[in-house]
Amino acid sequence: MIFILDTATVLDIAVATLYVVVILIAARFCKPRSVVLVGLGCVALTILSWVLAPPARPSAETLINECISIVTIGLVTALALHAQQTVSTLRNQANLLDLTHDPIFSRDMDGKILYWNRGAEELYGFKGAEALGAVAHTLLQTTFVTPLEQIMTRLLREDRWEGELVNRKTDGTPVVVTSRWSLQRDNAGKPALILETNIDISERKRLEDSLQQAQSDLARLNRVLVVGEMTASIAHEVNQPIAAVVTSAHAGLRWLDAQPPALEEVRHALTRIEKDGSRAGEVVSRVRGLVKKVPPRIERWDLNEAVGEAVALTRAELLRNGVVSRNALSSDVSLVMGDRVQLQQVLINLIVNGIEAMTGVHDRPRELTIRTARADPDTAMVEVCDTGTGLDPGHVDRLFQSFYTTKAEGMGMGLAISRSIVEAHGGWLEAVPNEPHGAVFRFTLPTRENAQASAEVLRS
Ligand code: ADP
Repeated sequence: MIFILDTATVLDIAVATLYVVVILIAARFCKPRSVVLVGLGCVALTILSWVLAPPARPSAETLINECISIVTIGLVTALALHAQQTVSTLRNQANLLDLTHDPIFSRDMDGKILYWNRGAEELYGFKGAEALGAVAHTLLQTTFVTPLEQIMTRLLREDRWEGELVNRKTDGTPVVVTSRWSLQRDNAGKPALILETNIDISERKRLEDSLQQAQSDLARLNRVLVVGEMTASIAHEVNQPIAAVVTSAHAGLRWLDAQPPALEEVRHALTRIEKDGSRAGEVVSRVRGLVKKVPPRIERWDLNEAVGEAVALTRAELLRNGVVSRNALSSDVSLVMGDRVQLQQVLINLIVNGIEAMTGVHDRPRELTIRTARADPDTAMVEVCDTGTGLDPGHVDRLFQSFYTTKAEGMGMGLAISRSIVEAHGGWLEAVPNEPHGAVFRFTLPTRENAQASAEVLRS
């Protein structure tokens, strides 16, 4: 058709350049080799039509026009082949992106999604057609752990950002992801688009959370076990002689009420009371020695490291109660001597008490600070400071008495046991008010210089 027009008319190059359209159409639908053939065909037809053209035209002018047409067709064919090659490379790369199971998508600087791979479809449940053109953070209801402004400032400065985000699937299920953002700039260096690659870490997070939960439950359980064990032993062992005392007292009263009073029987009853009373006393002393039943393991250990571990063990509890914990650990304190397990138990007990003292606080930050320091050359000091309800000045010493508690489910043994453990190590435990709010529980431990002395105290 173009050939006939070109041959039959005198429209010069205008008709011949219509071949360009034919080449572009071929480039869209045909393989590269066919595009080359179409290009060559167009050149051949252009030459043929020039040869067959009406002789009325001035030949020099038509020759130049012919050359321009042929060069144009050639250039367009080359450009079309190049474009076809680029498109095919891009398509291959896009297909590669689809092979990965991780969600990858790109968005412009307004957040509109430009590319959405199969991994993104599979994880979030939005099909490409739904996602393309939507604003990414709105579509995925993204919760930013770090504020978005901070992320963008960093991205614009460093061209990349990596961190944690929470997205939501199409059914609203939250997905925790490690997100990597990479900023692409245009030729002028202006930010053009953001490529986002996400890795689903929901399962890992869930496992981490349950591990932390288990650790904190363990910490609690340990504490309850120590207290429970003591209470059960005391109850069981003291109950018997006390029951015997009560029985003897009843019997004594009955003999006294008899007419005439059976004084000899009363004497027997009182003797039994005395005997059982002393037995109860012995039991109490034995129970006090119960803690020493398990021989303490005296060893050298790093106090600051043990503080870190105790905080890690109680992390879930801290998080659940919205408590921010800070460690102010002195490098001046390193090794201490004693039973690491027992003393860590003391620390955990003080931390849990601190957290519990802050549960009712809503008008100020809940902060727990653990400080270590060297009190003197032979003594290390640990302070657990909270911003909780604080101490009743008249009752500070009562806190350390067995069974003193102000909690509905408390046993009131934690501080009593803690004090006896610390004292068995040759140290002391005290409570003082924190400024401006809360309490400080402070205890000391011998450092390795007088380790021998502390070991003696423990063994005695
Ligand atoms: P329990 O925790 O079972 O009550 P404890 O012996 O550990 O037993 O504590 C005794 C009491 O001391 C608590 O009930 C509470 O009234 C008080 N107490 C302990 N720690 C703190 C603290 N950090 N701030 C204020 N009061 C505290």
